[in-house]
Amino acid sequence: GERILDVQNLYTSFYTHLGEVQAIRGVSFHLDKGEALGIVGESGSGKSVTSMSVMKLLQHPGKIKSGKIMFKGEDIVPKSSKEMMSIRGDQIAMIFQDPMTSLNPVYTVGNQIMEAMIKHQGLSKSEARKKAVEMLKLVGIPSPEDRVDNYPHEFSGGMRQRAMIAIALSCQPDLLIADEPTTALDVTIQAQILELLKELKDKVNTAIILITHDLGVVADVCSRIVVMYGGLIMEQGSAEDIFYEPKHPYTMGLIKSIPRLDLNERQRLVPIPGTPPDLLNPPVGCPFASRCPYAMQICANEAPKYYDINPGHHAACWLLDPEAPKVEVDTGVKR
Ligand code: SF4
Ligand code: MG
Repeated sequence: GERILDVQNLYTSFYTHLGEVQAIRGVSFHLDKGEALGIVGESGSGKSVTSMSVMKLLQHPGKIKSGKIMFKGEDIVPKSSKEMMSIRGDQIAMIFQDPMTSLNPVYTVGNQIMEAMIKHQGLSKSEARKKAVEMLKLVGIPSPEDRVDNYPHEFSGGMRQRAMIAIALSCQPDLLIADEPTTALDVTIQAQILELLKELKDKVNTAIILITHDLGVVADVCSRIVVMYGGLIMEQGSAEDIFYEPKHPYTMGLIKSIPRLDLNERQRLVPIPGTPPDLLNPPVGCPFASRCPYAMQICANEAPKYYDINPGHHAACWLLDPEAPKVEVDTGVKR
């Protein structure tokens, strides 16, 4: 397929009064037209900073330090904020965890969908209104002809997220970035929204990046998955590779921590013990070393490179290096 996004060796830092927080430390991934990519990791892994970098919405003191973000063949890193504003209104859209923070409470939902259509596609008001009703129908809002004139507070949480998706899609973006779009919703609504994203990917052929801390969320929607930790990609591969052939201990830990609905509350989660590394002083070795049940002496001292498991599937772990000295250390984490 046509390459929509190609992120090449991206470094993003936050220049705080305490020093440089190296939030993204050399991240590369790509995405083709109509494809859905999942970026998964705990909070502090760098997944949201990655998406904010791609949107070029980083707030001060955040800054892209180096690397390229090729969007439809053109590097957007050097683009001005004015150029980016027109790209965001027109070609890249984003939805967030809490639709209330992005929906404008003083405008009707319909007007917010119409805005981009009038501004970027030159539609008349009545054409845009007709399209807004269609959009609401597309995202599964019941009686869209009436709902188009509602204000955001008149919508339920799930409907607000659907409205957000309608607004995001109103500019017919080539790329939709969804950052924890279902985290605030209950499980049933969450499943419905994910189903909607999956449907839309095929219907409107938009490339989607789905960002989440919950590996279970991406299973159904995404064909490829990037697993991030400590500002780095730990493992990347097809959904099958990641779920059935995980090679990185962090990925394995995430799989164990997927909420299981078939089990009772107590058995549901096996969180990975410990906390992510401090990126003000990033570890020199593998960032997961202090929490890894398989850690060896070399892990804390030297960062592993990426090892190819098959085309498109790679992981950064010393276990995959047959020549690495396998001297174990006890991190106290159970296998
Ligand atoms: Fe664990 Fe070492 Fe692999 Fe890091 S490199 S994940 S510490 S075994
Ligand atoms: Mg986040």
